[in-house]
Amino acid sequence: MQNDTRPLLNLDASVNPENYRMFRVINHVARLGFVVHTIFVPLFVVLQVYPLAAFNVLSSLASFAGYRINQKGNHSLAVTLLSCEVVLHTALAVYLVGWSAGFQNYLMAAIPFAVFNHQWRTRTMIAVTGGVLVLYCLLYAVAARLQPVPIEAWIVEGISYLNAIVVFVALGVTSYFFREASQETERHVEDLANTDPLTQIPNRRRLWELLELERLRSERSGRSFVIALADIDHFKRFNDSYGHHCGDAVLSHVATVMRASVRRTDTVGRWGGEEFLFILPETPLRGAMEVLEKVRRCVEEVPCRFGDQTYHVTVTFGAANFGRKQTLERCIREADDALYQGKEQGRNRVMSGPLLS
Ligand code: GH3
Ligand code: MG
Ligand code: MG
Repeated sequence: MQNDTRPLLNLDASVNPENYRMFRVINHVARLGFVVHTIFVPLFVVLQVYPLAAFNVLSSLASFAGYRINQKGNHSLAVTLLSCEVVLHTALAVYLVGWSAGFQNYLMAAIPFAVFNHQWRTRTMIAVTGGVLVLYCLLYAVAARLQPVPIEAWIVEGISYLNAIVVFVALGVTSYFFREASQETERHVEDLANTDPLTQIPNRRRLWELLELERLRSERSGRSFVIALADIDHFKRFNDSYGHHCGDAVLSHVATVMRASVRRTDTVGRWGGEEFLFILPETPLRGAMEVLEKVRRCVEEVPCRFGDQTYHVTVTFGAANFGRKQTLERCIREADDALYQGKEQGRNRVMSGPLLS
């Protein structure tokens, strides 16, 4: 009966949520690649190293294509294309300009991709990282035996600084976005674990955490708080007469109305089935009764729309004060007893345990 189809993260339909991290990182790296390669084109034209100027044009196109392919959801192909581009470009640049210009350092920026790509098994990750190392050494060996194209020393030095900056930025960008994407995923997973998927309010697990927190806060401050249980009246009738989808719509509607009619500092969560639990901090029982009466009236007055029908819903409340030397279980039992009395006395009302404070 629960709606578990809530989408993971706010993504375009073509992005598989499992690949979210890769998606984010490739997006930024491809953009950076496009900008850097485009800047290198006129530089190598001026230096008359035409093969590298031409290759930078190809690299810009490859970066753009990688970006588009990534957007379309094919992250593996995008990574493969960008990696091949980096490897070929590095090899050609070291071959032509020599080791001292520092193009080989671009290979190092490929390592985070191998490590963070969850689609690769550890074996593949180690093999790729090892392959990059072998290529690095090979380039060194080849460069040591070759005569690079003649470029003035100060220009080569300038290019080596530029390359160092770009590699550092690329590594920084990659690491930063992997971190960002990881944190975002963690927050989302935490949210999923704490939220009821149907009503989008805190679930029972989260309510227990919040109850514990409130108990500690109340013990420290000496101020009591109120726990209330609310149960939809004759809820079974909605299910039985109009189907479970209608029942689900009524649950979502009631949750939305309840959430909207209490303060931000108050909590309302789904305790189970068609029962909700309220935590009203730093509130005496009398005050809480007024708040709950307002919520009851709102639920009664705002009808639930489902399809082209409207349904009138009512809720019965039972509230109890959490005072000194009490346990949460006992307070919840008191609220439940009050709720039971409310049902006995005709429903659609707010009842309470003993009015202590
Ligand atoms: P009362 O006024 O005494 O509370 O009557 P009631 O019909 O609301 O209470 P009862 O406990 O008899 O029925 C509760 C029903 O809620 C039974 C169960 O099938 C239904 N229910 C529990 N969880 C869900 C849910 O997530 N979706 C739907 N559609 N129904 C649910
Ligand atoms: Mg019930
Ligand atoms: Mg009920």
